[in-house]
Amino acid sequence: MQRYFIDQSCIEGLYIHIDSYNHKHMQRVMRYRNKDTVICILPNHETYIYEIIDIDQGLLLQKEQLIEDHELDIDITLIYALPKSDKFELVLQKATELGVKRIVPFLSKRSIIKTDQKTFAKKQERYLRILKEASEQSYRQVIPELTSLIQINDIPSFLSDVNLVAYEESSKQGEHSAFYHALHSNYQSITIIVGPEGGFDQKEIDIMKEMGVIPCSLGKRILRSETAPLYMLSVIGYSRELK
Ligand code: SAM
Repeated sequence: MQRYFIDQSCIEGLYIHIDSYNHKHMQRVMRYRNKDTVICILPNHETYIYEIIDIDQGLLLQKEQLIEDHELDIDITLIYALPKSDKFELVLQKATELGVKRIVPFLSKRSIIKTDQKTFAKKQERYLRILKEASEQSYRQVIPELTSLIQINDIPSFLSDVNLVAYEESSKQGEHSAFYHALHSNYQSITIIVGPEGGFDQKEIDIMKEMGVIPCSLGKRILRSETAPLYMLSVIGYSRELK
């Protein structure tokens, strides 16, 4: 059954007046008719089955609540140094499937892509659509938050109980236990920081260490910038849900 995230503005008691984007999807893609049912996730993260009362008007009526929880038991914040744009969109989609709660785009020293908040904001709508559709596809109750573009000095606002920066030089120097120890500590929230194609500058790592961020290796191989966050999210998800 197709899932849709619903904005508060569409809800009227037990009825939903579906927004134009979802309405088009229901009519043209799914070819729904009256009496068909869909799953709607409300802004309070509760999930309900709704019946289509009038497909032309986009009017739905609440039928029954579904008790489901497909969210990780901890909050993950990914601070991601902007790679080339299509890679960023891939990470938005895959990180959502892997349970990330917040994605913080970070303009690091070696970020190849030259952008600023104004330019970045122009793609915000497209990025939010990717997050929404990936959340619907992966049966999540929450759409990850995408913050505005930050610089290194803004990092402290996004730190958690545990804070790790994936640092390629840690791997080259044979450090392979910081990530393991961090995941075996007691935490409710974790921030992971990943570099761009060009990696991190030692000075950036020193600043992050001052902020209490721990450099860690992701193993013996050097992963692409877009692979590294997905590896970290997979390992965290495994350690929380499959034991
Ligand atoms: N240009 C760097 C080099 O050649 O050493 C590689 C950077 S890597 C493509 C991009 C980012 O992925 C790194 O900054 C780091 O955050 C992360 N990363 C990739 N492989 C890693 C590993 N084995 N250990 C720690 N971090 C890694």
